[in-house]
Amino acid sequence: MKIICIGRNYTEHIEELNNERPEEPVVFLKPDSALLKNNDPFYFPAFTNELHHEVELVIKISREGKNIQPKFAHKYYEEVGLGIDFTARDLQQKAKEKGLPWEKAKAFNHSAPVSGFVDKKLFSNLQNISFSLEKNGKSVQQGNTSLMLFPIDELIAHVSQFFTLKKGDLLFTGTPKGTGPVQIGDRLTGKLEGQEMFDFEIK
Ligand code: ZN
Repeated sequence: MKIICIGRNYTEHIEELNNERPEEPVVFLKPDSALLKNNDPFYFPAFTNELHHEVELVIKISREGKNIQPKFAHKYYEEVGLGIDFTARDLQQKAKEKGLPWEKAKAFNHSAPVSGFVDKKLFSNLQNISFSLEKNGKSVQQGNTSLMLFPIDELIAHVSQFFTLKKGDLLFTGTPKGTGPVQIGDRLTGKLEGQEMFDFEIK
C-alpha cells in the first residue's frame, strides 16, 4: 500500500507557514514503513530538533481506480479515519530553501500514525466534519473539512491522474492551522466529531 498526502489544503495553515496558495493540490507520498497503528508509541527520531504534529482527516481507498472523475470519486472510499502527518520542520525548511524533495522531512519511519477507520455513512456530510488534536489534554489543533481548499472528491480525482489508487491506500487530506512541536513525554489524542480516534505517546 501507499500513503498519498496533500499539503497546503487549509488557508490558515498556508498563512502560518508563509506558503503560497496552490493552484492545484500539493502532493507527496510516504512509504508503508511510515505507518504507525494501534496507538503504538512514537519514538522521537535523532535526526530532527523540530518535530511538528499535523492532524489530518484520512481517507481509506476501497477499490482500484485511475483517472477518476470527481463525480465518481465517492465510490472509491467507504471509511475515514484520523492521522498525523509528522513533519521534521527543520529538515523540511532546509529542503524547501534548496528546492529539494521533502521525503526525509515527512516520509521517515512511523511518520504517519493512523487511527482505526469508521464508516463514512456515520457522517451526513463529509465536507462538514470537525476534528481536533489534543497535546497532553490541551487542544492544539481544530479543523473542519468545510475549510479544505480542495474537497476530498477533487483530491481523489487529482491524485488518481498520476497514481493508480489501490484498495487499502490512504489519503491524508492536509492539516488545518495550529501545527506545532512535540517532545518526548507528550501524549497526542485525536478526535473526529468529538469521538476519540487515537491516543498515543511520544517516547
Ligand atoms: Zn500534512
